Amino acid sequence: MATSQSSGERLPVWVPLLWVTVFAAAVLMPAGAVYASHPNPSSLKHQHNMHYASTNADGPGANDEQFCVESHDTSKISHSSGRSFVNQTLTQMGSGKVWDGSGNWRIDLWAANSNCSSYPASTRATIEIEVHYGWDWSGTCGGPTGYYNCVVHDNPVWNADHGHYDSKWTYVYLVFSSGGRLDNVGRAFINHEFGHVFGLADDNGNCNLPSIMHSTIVGYSCGNWTNWYPSAADYQSVVNLMG
Ligand SMILES: [Zn+2]
Ligand SMILES: [Zn+2]
Repeated sequence: MATSQSSGERLPVWVPLLWVTVFAAAVLMPAGAVYASHPNPSSLKHQHNMHYASTNADGPGANDEQFCVESHDTSKISHSSGRSFVNQTLTQMGSGKVWDGSGNWRIDLWAANSNCSSYPASTRATIEIEVHYGWDWSGTCGGPTGYYNCVVHDNPVWNADHGHYDSKWTYVYLVFSSGGRLDNVGRAFINHEFGHVFGLADDNGNCNLPSIMHSTIVGYSCGNWTNWYPSAADYQSVVNLMG
């Protein structure tokens, strides 16, 4: 099945050349373009289940977002510590700082009990989101070795309610050098990449509203959001995409 991916990103402080590139792109952008929200411009770019809520509040329902976490070097980060960190970042950091619960719980994230590859294929196929920790995802995300984090949307499903394609599965790739760090830098990248999971785009120099998609921690040369968690505008952008 065809896949599409967002542009990758990494810690900008280590990449002065990237700052120059982003700055040049911003300067060349046509004047007057206003980005009131950060929707991803193409189809196949957000999770299907974010349109819908499940009534089951005690576990992952059919319309919830389940995720598994896999470490590709367990001597660096174990499966369970990766899982705990991602789960904490997405669900346990408090109101206004987590994606979990967005849109009256149309986003309802649940961590799978075990790492992704531990499940048989039939079970693994029921998990909507996979998070992969590793040293290098350049084969998937592009760029130099160990450089970029990225998101890949996969398996488009037609959504007749909304007249567009949704992603059945989404893969988040985190590099140990930035998005795979178990600190607030890692949290910022996880929240940024899950912004892609839920349909937000990179801003590439458009700084109209504060956004985790251009937090100073993850790059893109905007100074109006310095936090590791999504902004109020980000939550509203995702709710807007829910329809
Ligand atoms: Zn959709
Ligand atoms: Zn991005």
